Order: sequence, then structure tokens, then C-alpha cells
Amino acid sequence: MTGMGSGAEWLSRYSSSLMGVFGTPQRVLVRGAGCLVWDADGKEYLDLLGGIAVNALGHAHPFVTSVIASQLATLGHVSNFFTSPTQIALAEKLLALAKAPAGSKVFFANSGTEAVEAAFKLARRNTGTADAPRTKVVALDGAFHGRTMGALALTAKEAYRAPFEPLPGGVVHIPFGDLEALRAAVDHSTAAVFLEPIQGEAGVRPLSAEYLQAARRLTTDAGALLILDEVQTGVGRTGTWLASEDAGIVPDAITLAKGLGGGFPIGALLTMGEKPSALLSAGQHGTTFGGNPVATAAALATLHAIENQHVLANVNTVGEHLRAGLAAVPGVTGVRGRGLLIGVDLDADVAPAVVQAGLDAGFIVNAPGPHTIRLAPPLVLTTAQAETFLAAFPAILQTAKDAQ
Ligand code: PLP
Repeated sequence: MTGMGSGAEWLSRYSSSLMGVFGTPQRVLVRGAGCLVWDADGKEYLDLLGGIAVNALGHAHPFVTSVIASQLATLGHVSNFFTSPTQIALAEKLLALAKAPAGSKVFFANSGTEAVEAAFKLARRNTGTADAPRTKVVALDGAFHGRTMGALALTAKEAYRAPFEPLPGGVVHIPFGDLEALRAAVDHSTAAVFLEPIQGEAGVRPLSAEYLQAARRLTTDAGALLILDEVQTGVGRTGTWLASEDAGIVPDAITLAKGLGGGFPIGALLTMGEKPSALLSAGQHGTTFGGNPVATAAALATLHAIENQHVLANVNTVGEHLRAGLAAVPGVTGVRGRGLLIGVDLDADVAPAVVQAGLDAGFIVNAPGPHTIRLAPPLVLTTAQAETFLAAFPAILQTAKDAQ
């Protein structure tokens, strides 16, 4: 259908047919298997980015692939005038994994930004009383919550926001991890506080358990919602089902996407307990594709495989190994993150050059900042595969520095 072609030929066709919002793609990828991918010129790469924390089980996982194919061959789409068993089973499964209290509910979307958009609408419904309407939404400096208008209003980066102002109002950004600033910001006009347990796009910056616990106390006292954006950190990425699990708190809502469908697009908003789920009633939100049988079957298959193939234990072991190995590399000044969401700080602004040198050496990594590398590989990365990267990394870093 698409024909053959070299990477250069495809990229020339790309630039004349696709909108330039992503810049020039680094490679044209044609095939994947497990943690490996191949480009149009036949070169092999170890994928240490996993489609940006999406390919939880790697590429072309046989079980997920067969479940998707058989669901599509049985019932592909029904609209939300109807439901289907996979949608209901996935909602139940997610609530069980999140240890959600009675009355908790799920809304299915198709992406992270849509899950956040639904959460933003939920926040707007937390209106307080008529004489004290709640208009304020608190987010953090460095936050990334997506690119649709509501999610963009929560996203901090000026370069992403500025061309699209005015954005939906009421959002204030406060300094990252600063408890005093949070205390000062959360009051009886606050509808919600949005937090990523670990900021991924900002270079893998974790919030402490103490901060999350304080955020829970402050929002509860003020009658505000605590909404955790686990789009990047959820579904086992950090070695637990949710990154916020260790803090031992129950937020009012959680957003998920990325790894949830094992590569198939799906997002979800979980509301915890009776109260938040009552905020959005019939007709107040919707989506044509959300919760369709194929996406929900893909997610059920992904969760099943993570559970039954001891994937969370692997995430912890291999993540630990990678972090220890990277910390020992000369030129690495810091290693952050949990499980297989890892940020690596370098002693020079060479991160984009490291991405290029990594590709030349057969490794896919990402540079969320000028001196920061992010790894978010498939959760099934083996210790042996991690070793190949650790062995190659000092030379990749040196090549990047030489190229500056
Ligand atoms: N929230 C977080 C924490 C994210 O990391 C992202 C994407 O990187 C999003 C939301 C937006 O997700 P999507 O790109 O699927 O719209």
C-alpha cells in the first residue's frame, strides 16, 4: 500500500505532506519487535524511549496484538449510545488497580490531553457556593499536561502557551515542590490542584511523598480537588501501578493514557469516591471514540500481560541497574526518577547531540532539556539490553561533546 523507499525518500515526502509541528522526524521507522525497532534503511535500534513512555510491553507484543486483531474482527466500534463488555471490564480493572473507594468511576478518552481536559471540566464543576464561586486552578512550574486548550492552560511552558493566549482562565502556576507556595495558593476559591507525581517533560522531576500528602491535606481542608496526572507515570512505569501509590493518599481524580493501551491510543479519567464522580452528569462531557471496544481490549490485554509476566518486578530491577550504571559514568552529574522513568543530567549542554550520537550508535533516547536525557523504555527491557546501553553510553557522550 505504501511501497518501499529509503529514509531520505520518505522524509522528503513527509516534509511536503505533513504539518511541521513536530520538526523533522529523526528516523523513518518501519518495524518493531520487543524493545527493538528498525528504520527504512534497515538499521536496528534499542528503543529506550518506547514511543515516549507508551510501548509498555515493547513493540508488536504477541498477546496484545492478537487481542486487538480478534476484537477488531469481532466488534470494532459502537459509539457511546452503547457499551461493550471490554469497556466495562477495563473500568472495573482500573478501579481495582487504583484501589479506588466505593462510588469511584471511569471516563474513557483517546489520549492524555483528553483525559486532562475531562479533569479540567470536572474541576470547573467544583463550584463551591454561589457567593464564593471557585475559579482558581493550581498547577506547578514545569508542568506538562497536554496541548488542547484546557490542558495547555495547565501546562507551564511559555513557548507552548504564548501563541494561543488567551487560554481558559483561572490557572496559577506555583514553584515546583515548594510547600509554602502551595499552602499560600490553596484557599476557598481553589477548584483543583493538578500535580504530576514525577514531571516527565520537565526532565523527570519527582515530587516527594511528603509534598503529595500535604497537597492532599490542604485540598481536603479547602474543599478543592486533588487531581493527579499519571499520564506518563501510571501503568507500572515507576515500578508500581501508580507513581503516587507510595504516598498512601487517595486523590479525587487520576488521569492515565500513554502506557495504558500498550501502544494503542486510549486515555482515562478515574474519579475517586462518590463526590467527584457526581460533578459531571449526563450530557456534560463526551467523545465518539472514547472507550471503544478495540482500545479497551488493548488496555485489558496490556494490564493482563503486565500482571502475569512479572513486569513490575522487572521495572524495579532493570531501572535500579540502569540508574546505578548511569550514575557511574563520567560527565553524568545526577540521575533521577523511579522504575523505568529516568532523567540523566549531564555536565554540559549536549543532550540534543547525545540523542543524535545515540541514534548513530543504535539507541533511541530523548532530550527534554539542554543537559538532560530521558529514558522511558518498554517495561520489558532486559538487564542484558540495559547493559548494552550502559556499555555504549560513555562513547556516545564523548561523541556528543566532540560534536559541539
Ligand atoms: N500529561 C502528562 C503528564 C504527559 O506527560 C502528557 C504527554 O506527554 C500529557 C498529559 C498529554 O498526553 P497526550 O500527548 O497523549 O495528549
